[in-house]
Amino acid sequence: MTQKVTYSAPDEFGHFGIFGGKFIPETLVRNAADLEQEYLKAKDDPEFQQTLDNLLRNYVGRPTPLYHARRLSEKQGGASLWLKREDLCHTGAHKINNALGQVLLAKRMGKHRVIAETGAGQHGVATATVCALFDLECIVYMGEEDMRRQAPNVARMKLLGADVRPVSSGTRTLKDATSEAIRDWMNNPEETFYIIGSVVGMHPYPMMVRDFQAIIGREAREQVIEQAGRLPDVVVACVGGGSNAIGMFYEFLPDAKTVELVGVEAAGEGLDGKHAASLTKGHTGVLHGAMMKLLQDEHGQVLEAHSISAGLDYPGVGPEHCYLQKLGLVSYTSATDTEALNALETLAKTEGIICALESAHAMHYAMKRAASMSKESIIVVNLSGRGDKDMGTIMQELKL
Ligand SMILES: *Cc1c(COP(=O)(O)O)cnc(C)c1O
Repeated sequence: MTQKVTYSAPDEFGHFGIFGGKFIPETLVRNAADLEQEYLKAKDDPEFQQTLDNLLRNYVGRPTPLYHARRLSEKQGGASLWLKREDLCHTGAHKINNALGQVLLAKRMGKHRVIAETGAGQHGVATATVCALFDLECIVYMGEEDMRRQAPNVARMKLLGADVRPVSSGTRTLKDATSEAIRDWMNNPEETFYIIGSVVGMHPYPMMVRDFQAIIGREAREQVIEQAGRLPDVVVACVGGGSNAIGMFYEFLPDAKTVELVGVEAAGEGLDGKHAASLTKGHTGVLHGAMMKLLQDEHGQVLEAHSISAGLDYPGVGPEHCYLQKLGLVSYTSATDTEALNALETLAKTEGIICALESAHAMHYAMKRAASMSKESIIVVNLSGRGDKDMGTIMQELKL
């Protein structure tokens, strides 16, 4: 029972085993090095941590609750399901935890111009929010296809004062928006801070974003012990780039021999059709500055990802997840568009909670898994966001 896993990553070069690193052009080396140096200083600066803690508490609304979903658990007839309510964070998802951390770094570094990429629009909204709060210029790159799917979030960003720039290259989704943001950073290195929204990109981003999101699991671990009296049997989170999942898993990694950690990717229309399951179906390659598992064809050309949820619609996945999969510390599975939609509807009707389509992938797995487990078992699910932004898609799909 007390067997602990010792795990430490990345190394000083940002490697998670063979994954991660800094595959960047010369013109970005200085940017990345400056950022890493400043982050390592800030991390050990009590004043920085205190400022961040204070904002997380009073602005974001942390700690978020761990909620025992009794009706849903009864309906599934097995393990009890506990939801970590990141959907209750200010702006409606976990993304703000990271955006706040990074904007404080931007301030420390004296940068007055912030850029970001966004898929679902949640990271764009979080970034526009913290830029409004700190009076910084904010430019958000977003694929045209995502702008269409996530129109309410585009309006929110504009209202918050951000300049939303449509990206019409490639598949007009998150991958292309990210490439555009990296291009901007290369062209404007002096005054610009690039806030990446997930545990992807070149070192130090995967490490830094993980550290900012690790508060999710830190709280959840304490809360489940306090409220349920022990550690859970299974911890579940959805995986797009992987930030809410690693944020949830990180604090549980020492317990990985007794607590099963499961990441759920988007299987889209099915694993033989269009999907976004990079860990399940991808092959090792480089995208946006890091080695990772990637959806690509036999020539290494990056393939179009598909998911009903814009936030999971990315052909790559954070390097740390690739490493954790290889080490066998976390297992990864997937849920289809239809499965996610059904889980979303069930959760809404039994608990009165409308979750994000991304989070619904984790819900699907957790509900299915609960039914196969005993009543004494405990499953904790990270409810990464709320579904307001998805109402357009939901109305169309469920014919409401
Ligand atoms: C962006 C987003 C995700 C996917 O991003 P991760 O980095 O994998 O967490 C998941 N859920 C919600 C609600 C999101 O907004």
